[in-house]
Amino acid sequence: MRSIIPDYLTDALGDVEPDVSGELAAYIPELAGADPDRLGAVFATLDGRIYGAGDIDHEFTIQSISKPFTYALALADRGFYPVLDKVGVEPSGEAFNQISLEQGTGRPLNPMINAGAITAHSLAGPQGLDPAGRVERVIDGLSAFAGRRLAVDEAVCASEMADAHRNLAIAHMLRSYDILTEDPTAVVEGYVRQCSVLVSARDLAVMAATLANGGVNPLSGEQVVHQPVVRQVLSVMATCGMYDAAGDWATHVGIPAKSGVAGGLIGALPGQIGIATFSPRLDAHGNSVRGVSLFEQFSSDAGLHVMEVPESAPSVVRSNRVDGDQSDAVRVIQLQGGIRFAGAERIVREAAGNAFPETRVALDLSMVYSIDDVARRMLLEVTRRLTLDGHDVYLVDPESIVPDPDPGDGGRVTVVEDLAHIVRNVHAPSQAMSGPAELRVPT
Ligand code: GLN
Repeated sequence: MRSIIPDYLTDALGDVEPDVSGELAAYIPELAGADPDRLGAVFATLDGRIYGAGDIDHEFTIQSISKPFTYALALADRGFYPVLDKVGVEPSGEAFNQISLEQGTGRPLNPMINAGAITAHSLAGPQGLDPAGRVERVIDGLSAFAGRRLAVDEAVCASEMADAHRNLAIAHMLRSYDILTEDPTAVVEGYVRQCSVLVSARDLAVMAATLANGGVNPLSGEQVVHQPVVRQVLSVMATCGMYDAAGDWATHVGIPAKSGVAGGLIGALPGQIGIATFSPRLDAHGNSVRGVSLFEQFSSDAGLHVMEVPESAPSVVRSNRVDGDQSDAVRVIQLQGGIRFAGAERIVREAAGNAFPETRVALDLSMVYSIDDVARRMLLEVTRRLTLDGHDVYLVDPESIVPDPDPGDGGRVTVVEDLAHIVRNVHAPSQAMSGPAELRVPT
């Protein structure tokens, strides 16, 4: 069978292709020479599958899409507080190149506008690094996100730098407030180099997928940055990534995103997918016209809005039944799926709401594929309280979803690989569902 997804992407490109509205970013002269008709879209899955249509390998400069990644590097290299001290996280509601800083402190409002991005660039790498070393750190870092070595487009870099009066003005303002503590020109040169890194839509989708994948590049397997950094970056992308169109984007599309004036646009949907589009004509906000349309289409067609999540918690308890006969009877609470706080609450409710007559209680985790830290601790507290109530508690955990379980004071739990270790006549779940001793859980 031919895959559905490339066909879908080709159709989506066909839908937006006739729209030739918008303008190339002429304020960087070299960008004004780009081919305005280029169009491409890529989906990158979190296990490294790439689906694309159109111009997915054509290279263009990353521009502002470098901002979230450099912010991630600064957070990883310097820690949160030194960075937050110098760059805020408030949406500015202003254009990307607005010369505005927080009243009093001079702090840029967020790292997605130029003022914040120039500051974030100055914070990449260890303190005391010279400007050349910092650029190297940034290009190394962007390359790690992309999973291949990236290069700089020298012509675009020189073209932007020759006319960088606005960014130089911003940097001088930052210097006057001591947000920048070094030569503003050198920092702007580094930032412009960072913006001139060449990428394809394919690279951008992998970079986005790395963010969606908790910081692990799906192609190389490298943990580029850690989860707390990813959370911070995605939050800022969600609130500030589309500049003064951020609110519209959040409600219509609902995917943490970032655009660049060369026509790139990325979206990173945590736990699901990295998306990139490329189409150089820009709207009044500096966002790719056809890129925005494609993302609107992807979000509604594929149900990708981050606020639209499946209601999975109630089904965490698959069944609550008794296996075995009288003296051999075991209360089996069979769990399934991914368990977080709301799912763990269902387990607590199941155990707290019933005084089980059986001495032995088994929590069956064999159909659970993930459990986060909070849910794991709640589950262990359930086992501890069941022990204190006089039960012998078992965890059926063949894949060590809860490794080395320690229920704490007064708790005791025995881990087994299979229910058959504790029950002589194990019912298959489907049989148990209709068995007399079973208490079926509504889903
Ligand atoms: N290098 C560009 C600038 O600083 C990046 C802007 C953008 O892509 N929005 O003006």
